[in-house]
Amino acid sequence: MNFSELPLEASMLQTLDSLGYTSATPIQAQTLPLILENKDIIAEAKTGSGKTAAFGIGLLSKLDVKKFRVQSLVLCPTRELADQVAKELRKIARFKHNIKILMLTGGESFGKQLGSLSHQAHIVVGTPGRVLKHLNKESLELTHLQTLVLDEADRMLDMGFLEEVESVINFAPKERQTLLFSATYDSTITAISKKIQHDAVAVKTTHEELANKIKEEFIATANKEESFIKILSEYKPRNVIVFTNTKIEAKELAESLQKRKIDAIAIHGDLEQYERNDVLVQFANKSCPILVATDVAARGLDIKELSMVVNFDLPHGAETYTHRIGRTGRAGAEGIAITLYGSYENEKLEEYRDEKRLFIDDAQLKGSLNFELKPEFVTLVIEGGKKDKLRAGDLLGALTGDAGLGGSSIGKIDIYDRQAYVAIETRFIDDAHKRLKSGKIKGKKFSVWVL
Ligand code: ADP
Ligand code: MG
Repeated sequence: MNFSELPLEASMLQTLDSLGYTSATPIQAQTLPLILENKDIIAEAKTGSGKTAAFGIGLLSKLDVKKFRVQSLVLCPTRELADQVAKELRKIARFKHNIKILMLTGGESFGKQLGSLSHQAHIVVGTPGRVLKHLNKESLELTHLQTLVLDEADRMLDMGFLEEVESVINFAPKERQTLLFSATYDSTITAISKKIQHDAVAVKTTHEELANKIKEEFIATANKEESFIKILSEYKPRNVIVFTNTKIEAKELAESLQKRKIDAIAIHGDLEQYERNDVLVQFANKSCPILVATDVAARGLDIKELSMVVNFDLPHGAETYTHRIGRTGRAGAEGIAITLYGSYENEKLEEYRDEKRLFIDDAQLKGSLNFELKPEFVTLVIEGGKKDKLRAGDLLGALTGDAGLGGSSIGKIDIYDRQAYVAIETRFIDDAHKRLKSGKIKGKKFSVWVL
């Protein structure tokens, strides 16, 4: 979006242009129109996304320069951040003569600040403690305040400034605009928003950065399993993690998919450590294309190059959603995130409405139900590992030696303390199994089985 699409003065547009701000960043494009309309905003955007100019352009545009009173107050968690904000505001403030911006932070001479305040200012940028001190000493007055900004609100709360911020607000008029800017968003931010804002509009651009690389679709369906199979047949993903909200659902879905000749394994909190390992190895070495997981079970799972994430149910909250879909589309590759929802989830769905996401109906899916998904590889387990001095080369030798398998039919080899896993191309599995079982590895016999 161009700044010229906004109701900004020509001199402001010229100044932005001279700063090299040719177009608005997403957070600026989405908050500025609302800020100019005097709406309260709760904005979440990544660091470096241009939040300062977002509120800066807004409050500077609305400033009445002739009125020599504090009209805007920006609270920042640290002196360094206040300094950065003041610098950015001063750059933008060049669009008009005589705008006075004052910094009030701790660690500076209080007396000197008193002197500056006696000359009045339009905008104060400061840290909560020092600003409060001036309010208490009546060297600062907020009766004409129009806009209050809490910049880096999350850090401000983390640093324990809540009480001081609330005390500062007690000095401000009830009729005012309050803007909350933050890099993260959680219940403490929502709580303070409820306390100090009126009908705040939430603007988030954090997932937009993700959306560049992740295609997000939401599908309304009365039969999630069938929709899922259609999706598989359409996209033919190499590997998929399907999230369910409960472990029972995870188990049942994996079993049901297996019955339909769609190879899937469940991973959930009830598995023993060794079982968990068996599952993860198979998923990572392409012996199972679909992993059905609960959030807890998927914790710490590090699979690179995941083609697709499917939410079999709407997750419990947007944060879980972001976390789940963030597993695909890594390292520059495009990922696909599909979320299935039933009519009983319609209410919960509202939280996920976003113009970057595609909402369609099962009837619009292109794939067919006539689809089977077999893994490329099958895993052999050898009951011997590092403790037996077994190395990948030993296993490779035992499989390929004496006119055995071709090297390309052998996939990933994982060696643990007491066990080793070898992925074998599906059509060679019987041959490979026989060879390892009947022959010796490093002059020793090991028991071998197919996972
Ligand atoms: P945030 O507070 O979101 O971490 P900043 O407000 O500090 O980010 O902005 C980061 C950088 O981007 C600054 O150097 C700022 O000058 C620059 N910037 C802000 N808006 C624009 C824009 N529209 N076009 C180009 N650069 C911009
Ligand atoms: Mg900032």
